[in-house]
Amino acid sequence: MRLFLALLFRNRLAGFGAVVLALVVVLCLIVPLLPLAEPNAIDTADKFLPPFSPGHPLGTDHLGRDLLSRLLWGTRLSLAVGTCAAMAAAFSGTLLGVTAGYFGGRIDNILMRLVDMLMAFPYILLALAIVAALGPGILNALIAVAAVNVPFFARNIRGISAGLTAREFIDAARLSGQGHARIIVTELLPNVLPVIVVAVSTTVGWMVLETAGLSFLGLGSQPPQADLGSMLGEARAAFLTAPHVMMVPGAMIFLIVMSINLLGDGLRDALDPRLRSGALARPEPVTRIAREVVPPARSVTPGLLELEGLETRFQIGARVYRAVNGVSLSLARGECVGLVGESGSGKSVTALSVMGLVASPPGVITGGAVRLAGVDLLSLPYRGLRALRGRRVAYIFQDPLSTLHPLYRVGDQMIEAIRVHRNIPVAEARAICLDLLRIVRIPNPESRLAAYPHELSGGMRQRVGIAMALVNDPEVIIADEPTTALDVTVQAQVLALLDGLRRDRGLSILFITHDFGVVGQLCDRVAVMYAGRIVEEGPTAAILAAPAHPYTRRLIESVPEPGGGKRRLISIPGLPPAVDRLPPGCAFAPRCHRAQPACRQGEIELTRSGTRALRCLFPEEVPQ
Ligand code: SF4
Repeated sequence: MRLFLALLFRNRLAGFGAVVLALVVVLCLIVPLLPLAEPNAIDTADKFLPPFSPGHPLGTDHLGRDLLSRLLWGTRLSLAVGTCAAMAAAFSGTLLGVTAGYFGGRIDNILMRLVDMLMAFPYILLALAIVAALGPGILNALIAVAAVNVPFFARNIRGISAGLTAREFIDAARLSGQGHARIIVTELLPNVLPVIVVAVSTTVGWMVLETAGLSFLGLGSQPPQADLGSMLGEARAAFLTAPHVMMVPGAMIFLIVMSINLLGDGLRDALDPRLRSGALARPEPVTRIAREVVPPARSVTPGLLELEGLETRFQIGARVYRAVNGVSLSLARGECVGLVGESGSGKSVTALSVMGLVASPPGVITGGAVRLAGVDLLSLPYRGLRALRGRRVAYIFQDPLSTLHPLYRVGDQMIEAIRVHRNIPVAEARAICLDLLRIVRIPNPESRLAAYPHELSGGMRQRVGIAMALVNDPEVIIADEPTTALDVTVQAQVLALLDGLRRDRGLSILFITHDFGVVGQLCDRVAVMYAGRIVEEGPTAAILAAPAHPYTRRLIESVPEPGGGKRRLISIPGLPPAVDRLPPGCAFAPRCHRAQPACRQGEIELTRSGTRALRCLFPEEVPQ
C-alpha cells in the first residue's frame, strides 16, 4: 500500500487530483453538519445576490436560494449518482464480460451481440430514450447512465478475460479439478480487478457529466432538489445578467471531472506492474547521463570499444541500485570477449549502457566513459548516438520473439533497419537481406522474408536476429545471451555461425552469457562480473585452465562436461547480493569458501598482472 501511494503521489498531477477530490468528498460528507442555509428556502426579495453578499458567500439564484448551500448539497447528490452509476455499470459490464470471455463460444456470441445491440444506438439518444421510458427523476437518470456505459465495461473486460482464459494458470486450475465459479472468482477476477478499478476511476467523471447533462435537460433531478446539472439548467436564463449563478456549478463540475480524470490516470500508472519500477514516465530515447567527472580523452585507445570505469545506477524511490559499478573493459578489432556472471550481475546493463539503451527513468549513467574508436559515446547527442546504433554497433538480443515486431514481416523489418541508416532503394535493401539470410543459413530465404516472426521456429528467429544485426555491416556486435533459449543443437549452430562471421568479417563481439561452456567455444578473452563489478579477466584458455577468483572457479565447476567422466557438479551456495545494499569489502564474501576477516573490510581493487586481472585477496591460484 505504501509503495502504491508513493507511486501515485510521484505523479504530481494525480496527487493534485487526489487532494482536490478528497476535499470535495469530505465537504460533501460533512454537508449536514455545516451551518448552511436551507438549500430550497425561497426568498425572492434576495434573488440574484452577487457573491460575498452578507449571509450568502456565493450569492443567490433566481429564487433567492443560497448558492453555497445548493452547491454543496447538489455536489453531494451528483457525486453519489455518478459513483453509483459507475459501480452499477462496472458490475454489470464485468459480469457480462467475464462470463463471455471465460466461456467463449455460443455464450460469448449471445452476450456480445446483446452488447452490440446497445452499442448500435447513439449513446446520448439511448440515455434519453431510457429516461423518457422510465420517466424523469434522478434514480431513472442513474439507471440510464449506468445502462449506456455497460457495453464499455463488458467489451473491455471480455477481451482481457478471453486472453487470460487461454493462459496456462487457468488450464492448471481446471486440471486441478476446480469448478468454473471458483476459477472465475479466485483466478480470473483478481487479474481483471486492476483493469476494473482503473476503468471505474476514469469513468466516474463521465458519469457525473452525463447525469448533469440529463438534469440540465430536466430529465434528472427534479425541482426543488438541487444537483449540479439542474443548477446549470435553472441558471441558463440569467446567464448574461447573473453569470455567477451558472459559473458556480460549472466550476464545481470542472473541478470534479478534472480531479477524477487526473486521479484515474495516476491510478492506472500506479497499478500497472510494468511501471511499478518507478518509471512513471515513458523511457527516454537514450539513457540519462549524470557524470560528475568526465574521464579525459585518450590520444591512443588500445581497443575498438573501450569501457572505462562505467557506472550505471537505477534510482527507484529512495533506493539506489548500483547495477554497473566501475566496469573497465576493452574489445579489440576482430576479438570476441565473453562477459560472464549469474543473473543480476550487471552483464546486460553493462551491454545496454554502451549505446545508451538502459531505460531512463530509472536508469542513469553516473560515471565513466564508453569509447568507440576513441570517441566518447556518452558525450554524443542523441542524433549522433542514433546514427551509430545498428550501424557501427549492433545488438543481438536473447529473445527475438519479443524484439521483432509481431505485426510486420521479417523482410520489412530488416529492410527498415537498413534504410534507417542508408538511403538505398528497397530492391537493393531486399537483396542485402536475402544475402544475409543465406549467410545465416536460413533455407528458402525468399519465402522467409515474407514470413511473420511467429511463423518461424526459435532457432530461425535467432538467425533472423543475427542477420538483422549484420545488415549494416557493423564493427561491433553485442550479443546478449543469444543462445540461452535455444536447444543444444541450434545453440551449437548459432555459435559456429557467429564465430565464422567474426573471422570472415573481422567483427568484434561482446558476448554475454552465464555459461562457461559457450565462452570456451567462442571467446578469446573473458571477463567475469559479480555484483556490478569485474572480478576476474583474462584470456579464456588461461582462465579455464587456472581460474584465480573463487567465484570464477565455482562458475566453471558448475558446468557439466559431456564425456568428461563422473564428477560432482558444484553449486554456489547463497544468492548474489542486492546491489542497493552491498556488504563492505568483497561482495562475494558471504558465499566464498576462502573468505577471511580481511575480505570484509575496505575496497578490494582489481589488480592487473600481465594479461590477467583479479579482484581477490586470497585467490585460488596466483595468476601468471
Ligand atoms: S576477496 Fe576474499 S571473499 Fe572475496 S573472493 Fe577473494 S577470498 Fe573470497
